[in-house]
Amino acid sequence: MLEMSVARRPFGPKAVPVPWIGEGTWEMEENPRAAIRALRRGLDLGLTHIDTAEMYGSGRVEELVGEAIEGRRDEVFLVSKVLPQNASYEETIRACERSLERLGTDVLDVYLLHWRGRRPLEETLRAFETLVEQGKIRSYGVSNFAVEDLEEARAIVGDGRIVCNQVLYHLEERAIEHEVIPWCERHRVAVVAYSPFGAGRFPSVKRGPGRTLAEIAEAHGASPRQVALAFLARRPSVFVIPKAARVAHVEDNAAADGLVLDEEEIARIDEAFPLGPRRRGVPTL
Ligand code: NAP
Repeated sequence: MLEMSVARRPFGPKAVPVPWIGEGTWEMEENPRAAIRALRRGLDLGLTHIDTAEMYGSGRVEELVGEAIEGRRDEVFLVSKVLPQNASYEETIRACERSLERLGTDVLDVYLLHWRGRRPLEETLRAFETLVEQGKIRSYGVSNFAVEDLEEARAIVGDGRIVCNQVLYHLEERAIEHEVIPWCERHRVAVVAYSPFGAGRFPSVKRGPGRTLAEIAEAHGASPRQVALAFLARRPSVFVIPKAARVAHVEDNAAADGLVLDEEEIARIDEAFPLGPRRRGVPTL
């Protein structure tokens, strides 16, 4: 039963309504029982955008996600990813079939190329189109793509096919604001922010720039991480997928819904965690 819901935003060219806060699953294989509990609690709270990948735990994470969503597939916006070394035409199709099997479902909402590798992009995208035709995926996107890569993908499949670009984005790594976010907004490609808490290296709120987060959080009766999520997703094109293997963390993240920062608060965070210079490519972990 849905206890709560998280605000949905239009995702990608077809404006599919998707909760702006989702759930990441990287390294969830470390404590599968706790992870399944946390994912299910997230579903109860409306964190129904679940992000996984064949890479995570070499398939074990997809299996535990499958267990977490059993009987609840219809509630979930389910995303998985193909590894670049598997991204030839034939292998992409086989990798997707293996992911579906592990997830216990017959369709993914989005299938992503995890990052660009040596396989020709044209082959991967052609496989994605075949998977759409076969009804095995509803849509597809990319991950860790810089603007040049996005342009190349768009030249191959045309406008309106790539639904999202999943990229590194947290308070201390804002490089995508220079070019990637504006490009995605122009082409109605959703931006999915991965590692929104810096992959576990969240700034200390006791000193330095983290104090600003703590002060703003206190003013709202919120947590510093909730403030970070609200800041990252201040533009409607951005979705966040924090990973939380503990129920208390899932609850904290879900409660970021409804937190709206005013212009002055946004300016203070912007000053505490400056954008930094323009760089080539796209940042990665
Ligand atoms: P993250 O979400 O930035 O940080 C996760 C860490 O934050 C975990 O240690 C988690 O603890 C902790 N945490 C979560 N919520 C918290 C809260 N409310 N209070 C205190 N601590 C909290 O790191 P991430 O896993 O790197 O990124 C998120 C997801 O993005 C991944 O899981 C994955 O799905 C995706 N991702 C994609 C790529 C890509 O190349 N496409 C790369 C990296 C990540 P607990 O787990 O103990 O609750």
